[in-house]
Amino acid sequence: MTPVDRIPYSTQSITEADIAAVVATLQSPFLTQGPAVGAFEDALVQLHAAGHAVAVCNATAALHIACMAMGLGPGDRLWTTPISFVASANCARYCGAEVDFVDIDPVTRNLSPLALAEKLAQAERDGTLPKIVVPVDFGGLPCDMAEIRALADRYGFRILQDASHAVGAQYQGRPIGGLADVTVLSFHPVKIVTTGEGGAALTDNPELARAMRLLRSHGVTRDSAEISTPDEGGWYYEQVTLGYNYRITDLQAALGTSQLSRLPELWQRRDALARRYDEMLAGLPLLLPARCADRQSAHHLYTIEIDPKRSNVSRRAVYDALQTDGIGVNVHYIPIHLQPDYRRLGFAAGQFPAAEEYYRRALTIPLYPALSDAQQDRVVASLTRVLG
Ligand SMILES: *Cc1c(COP(=O)(O)O)cnc(C)c1O
Repeated sequence: MTPVDRIPYSTQSITEADIAAVVATLQSPFLTQGPAVGAFEDALVQLHAAGHAVAVCNATAALHIACMAMGLGPGDRLWTTPISFVASANCARYCGAEVDFVDIDPVTRNLSPLALAEKLAQAERDGTLPKIVVPVDFGGLPCDMAEIRALADRYGFRILQDASHAVGAQYQGRPIGGLADVTVLSFHPVKIVTTGEGGAALTDNPELARAMRLLRSHGVTRDSAEISTPDEGGWYYEQVTLGYNYRITDLQAALGTSQLSRLPELWQRRDALARRYDEMLAGLPLLLPARCADRQSAHHLYTIEIDPKRSNVSRRAVYDALQTDGIGVNVHYIPIHLQPDYRRLGFAAGQFPAAEEYYRRALTIPLYPALSDAQQDRVVASLTRVLG
């Protein structure tokens, strides 16, 4: 089989207009710290109905500075879901805080608001309440933000929504910006839109936005309102806190703005492909991604589970069969608490049974805008052969 015939599980969609946008920036005075970053942030604010957007070099950096801006530090706790990329949990450890997990809802595969409520009630009794909870919009399906917000109001934690999968998703008829204290997006090439590497933090809170802008660039400011001796001279800047170089370049931002202009059509193709999978896979012994009436998934991932009640074919067998057929299936995710670096902290198998059960049977099959109907038919035929 030639590489051309291989179907990846995901890949970026790059047009001539995207290329032209990057080339125009290459020929402009600014490769970084120029006008393209602000334009990209404006587009993100518009599309997600958020007050502010702070674009950075990747979503991991956005999670880190969001935690810092919300004051997370040693002695604090951050809770997230085990079914996510490791970055959703690691951000707490960068700040010297402790991580714990909340089990998933087996239908949405997102952090379960019920499990969260139970764990919070216990933590209140034990005096171990979290400072930040990180719900992750798994596969692009927004979390139960109304329930999580009600719990945040009752127990006093902040919500850091990891919406790395959910660029362009809708919740209760509105875009996902502003539902959390901070909402993080990723622009890695496998995600909904790309900047090569890139991420952003959205917030309605001007203080958090200001803090994240400082942290993104060394904690350095030239803003006369923020420096101690504003009359020093035009060259003058001050480092007012310890920050990082987490900046995104103008080249990346120009690509991102161009990509965002196609978001509706990219979403429509993903939605059409997801509906086709829903129909074509309905007869197989599989659990398919949930569709919820009050929210619209961004369809980042199409993750199936082999239903143990209707099939005894192992996930490993299905994975191997599809790989042999040239289909790039993947698994999202190995539960974070089972990673060796987390087991070292004391986590163990059996602690989050719904997440572990989901992991045993989960498989992500190809879904990206350039996937053709014929390629999708090949994926379905391969699944039907191994499971039928
Ligand atoms: C991709 C991803 C990240 C990290 O994104 P980067 O931009 O690669 O740093 C974080 N959380 C989730 C849920 C992701 O899928």
